[in-house]
Amino acid sequence: MVKVRKKLEATSWNPFTGCTKISPACKNCYAEGLALKLHKWGTAGYENKFQFTVHRDRLEKAVPLKRKKPTLYFINNMSDTFHEDADEESIDQILNIVKKAHWHNFYMLTKRSERMKGYFKNKAVPDNLWIGVTVENKKDGFPRLKDLQTIETVNKHICCEPLLEDLEDIDLTGIRLVVGGGESGNKARKAELSWVESLHRQCQIQNVHFYWKQWGSYGPDGVFKGKGKTGYLVNGKALQSFPKNLLPKNVAVQDSTRSEVPFSEIKVNHQKLFRSSRP
Ligand code: SF4
Repeated sequence: MVKVRKKLEATSWNPFTGCTKISPACKNCYAEGLALKLHKWGTAGYENKFQFTVHRDRLEKAVPLKRKKPTLYFINNMSDTFHEDADEESIDQILNIVKKAHWHNFYMLTKRSERMKGYFKNKAVPDNLWIGVTVENKKDGFPRLKDLQTIETVNKHICCEPLLEDLEDIDLTGIRLVVGGGESGNKARKAELSWVESLHRQCQIQNVHFYWKQWGSYGPDGVFKGKGKTGYLVNGKALQSFPKNLLPKNVAVQDSTRSEVPFSEIKVNHQKLFRSSRP
């Protein structure tokens, strides 16, 4: 596989912070741990710790509109955009900024798929927005996936992180990208190699991009090693691809002949996250 050295980054934009746990994927929520640390360090915007909060100043400032460089934004990675306490007007404001900032691409991920489905019933999804749901298991994830599949838009993704079981014959109709990963931390739950192989196989059969981000604390051999020590290889291969149009226009892909782009380099830049967290 040709290595693409160009550094790709997703930048977080968090007009909402804080959340409440809603499903098994939330058990060891990364955002909660980080929010508590940021609160402890006195970072502006985390005065309420992990309690759901709408930051009106961030909506008014609309930082993405001021940034001219085409950027891939992850909206509310410290919250859930469709949280029950999020007022519709604030969600509208986010969507208006996404539409206006047409030179960027944005993506969002929710576990409140019913609300997202209702929200987009009479509203169009902007072309530069990728919407997605978490599918960590069959019981909680498949109903979310069904909700996502009813929404009229092309750019849909699902996130199977932490992957908690074999998703077997998952129906990926209308989904363009599946992102997966193992869980990190001392209390991490193990992702089995066979579950990852099974998910990858379904993506191949159904012609969907598959990106295995990382193994988390347990390696593919099932041994606990700790974060950063397990890597991302699946049977010695990087299974990391995504559709080209996930990148904002004018962002060059080094090897333009590829139909798939390795994106191990895509990651949330926490420096920027901290910076953008300040008013
Ligand atoms: S929905 Fe996401 S942000 Fe909210 S508690 Fe669950 S994992 Fe954390």
